[in-house]
Amino acid sequence: MGTRPTIGVLALQGNFREHAATLRLLDADVVEVRKAEHVHGLDGLVIPGGESTTFMRLMQTYGLDEVVSRFERPVLGTCAGMIVLDRDHLDLVDVQTERNAYGRQVHSFEADLELADDPEPLRGVFIRAPRVEDTGPGVEVLAEHDGHPVLLRQGRFIVASFHPELTDDTRVHERFLDLVREEQLVRT
Ligand code: GLN
Repeated sequence: MGTRPTIGVLALQGNFREHAATLRLLDADVVEVRKAEHVHGLDGLVIPGGESTTFMRLMQTYGLDEVVSRFERPVLGTCAGMIVLDRDHLDLVDVQTERNAYGRQVHSFEADLELADDPEPLRGVFIRAPRVEDTGPGVEVLAEHDGHPVLLRQGRFIVASFHPELTDDTRVHERFLDLVREEQLVRT
């Protein structure tokens, strides 16, 4: 029997409530992270969508950029959360992203995504989404759209350019919680 994981959701801005609701549905305890000390003791961390420039600024103001960089457990970053983790920002995930790269007319769209290891497609909701332009050798592509990766994993990091917290499909969060539980097991 695993212990119930405690997951922090960065709650400075953006879609943190929806992430928290999905995680609770999957039997995780959720902590809303607004200050550096809230990260202490967490089993995993979610950086939600929102506006990456605002995230970076608020994270710097509250010292959360350093705390997140030092955090050693699984992290899920979605949309702006992926940008925050990329090469040009906290440099924790070896991906190059381009903000708002899906063009003006299609700021927002939905698409069925083919997963590398699951025959059931995943509905992706893209909202002014970043596009992944390059990935390093340690990055595994879990789903693509239009020839660009949209769901990726690098070790204990999972990043998505879309919003898995806005659909009823909980598979991205389940995958993340699997990583969290594996990590918990290694520690005990
Ligand atoms: N366009 C936003 C950014 O550049 C990301 C949008 C989102 O997270 N839904 O930060």
